[in-house]
Amino acid sequence: MDRDEKPIELSVIVPVYNESGNLPELHRQIRAALDRLRYRSEVLYVDDGSTDGSDRVLDEIAESDPSVTVIRFRRNFGQTAALSAGFDYAQGQVLVTLDADLQNDPADIERLVEKLNEGYDLVSGWRKRRQDGFFLRKVPSWLANRLIRRMTGVPIHDFGCTLKAYRREVVENIRLYGELHRFIPALAHWVGARITELPVNHRPRTWGRSKYGLSRTIRVLLDLITIRFLMGFSTRPIQVFGRIGLYTGFLGFLICAWLSVGKFVAPERYSLLQRLPMLLLGILLILVGVQFISMGLLGELMTRTYHESQDKPIYVVREVIRRSESP
Ligand code: UDP
Ligand code: MG
Repeated sequence: MDRDEKPIELSVIVPVYNESGNLPELHRQIRAALDRLRYRSEVLYVDDGSTDGSDRVLDEIAESDPSVTVIRFRRNFGQTAALSAGFDYAQGQVLVTLDADLQNDPADIERLVEKLNEGYDLVSGWRKRRQDGFFLRKVPSWLANRLIRRMTGVPIHDFGCTLKAYRREVVENIRLYGELHRFIPALAHWVGARITELPVNHRPRTWGRSKYGLSRTIRVLLDLITIRFLMGFSTRPIQVFGRIGLYTGFLGFLICAWLSVGKFVAPERYSLLQRLPMLLLGILLILVGVQFISMGLLGELMTRTYHESQDKPIYVVREVIRRSESP
C-alpha cells in the first residue's frame, strides 16, 4: 500500500510562541527527519497566540506541505495548553512533542519512536548535555528534577524536556491543567504507563528568547505539591487530612488533659501565667485537628462529585480479555 493511503501513524506536535525566525529551518529539519521514516505522518503546529508574525510563517509552511496542520489560539494560553491542543487534534497512534526553538533536534524522532516500539508507552528525552545557562537554568533544573524524581517515584532525569514520544492511549488518559506539561511522565506513571528515557541532542537557542525565567521554580514547586497529592490521595483525602487531624487533635487533648490533672494534683506548683502557653498550644492543636478532619470530609465529598459528575472511573484499564461476545 502506498504510504499516503495508510492512516496517520505518527503525529509531531510543536507548540509555537513567537518563534518566527526558527520556524522555516525547524520545518525543514522535521520534514527531513520524517521523510527518512516509513510511517505516514503529520505535523501539528500550535500557534499559542504569537505576535511576531509566526502566524504568517506557519501559513506559508502549511501552504507548501499538505501534511501540516496549524492550530491557532485566540491568545497566549501557555505551553501546556498548546501541547494539550496538539494531543486533541493529532490523529496518529504515536505522538511526538518538540520545541519550536530548534533546541530539540528533529533527527532524534526516529530513535524515540524506535524505543517506544520496544514496548513502552512513553519515551522521554533527556538533555544530557543541556545547552542553557548554568546558574539560572541548569542548576535549578537539576534540583527540580531530583525533587520531582523523589516525590513522584518516576526514575527519569529530565522532566522538562519537551522532546518526548507517547502512545496515544497514554495522553488520552491524562488531563492537563495549569503548567502541568512538565509532569506528564508523572501523570502517565500514575495511569500505569511504561516509561523510559533516552539521551537526546540539545542545542543552544540561536534566535528569539526563552519564555521562562527563574520564577518558574515556584510554579514548579506548587505544581509538584498538587501532583503529589493527586497521585497519592485524590481518591481518599480523609486518609491524609484525617490522619493529620487525629494526630494533632490527640496531642492537643493530651496537653489539655495533663494541664487539668496538674491543676488538681499540684495546684501550687504553677501559676496561670506559667500554664498559659501550654494551654494555648493544647487548644490550638485541638482546633487544628478538627479543621483537618473537616477538610478531609469535604475532600471526600469533592472526589465523589469529581468522579461521578463526569463518569470518571477510579481505575485505568489497559485491556480487557474476554472470550464470549455478550457480557
Ligand atoms: N511556548 C508556548 N507557549 C508559551 C511559552 C512557550 O507555546 O506560552 C513554546 C515555545 O515557543 C517553545 C516551547 O514552548 O517552542 C518551549 O519554550 P522555551 O524554549 O521558551 O522554553 P525553554 O526551552 O527555555 O525551557
Ligand atoms: Mg527552548
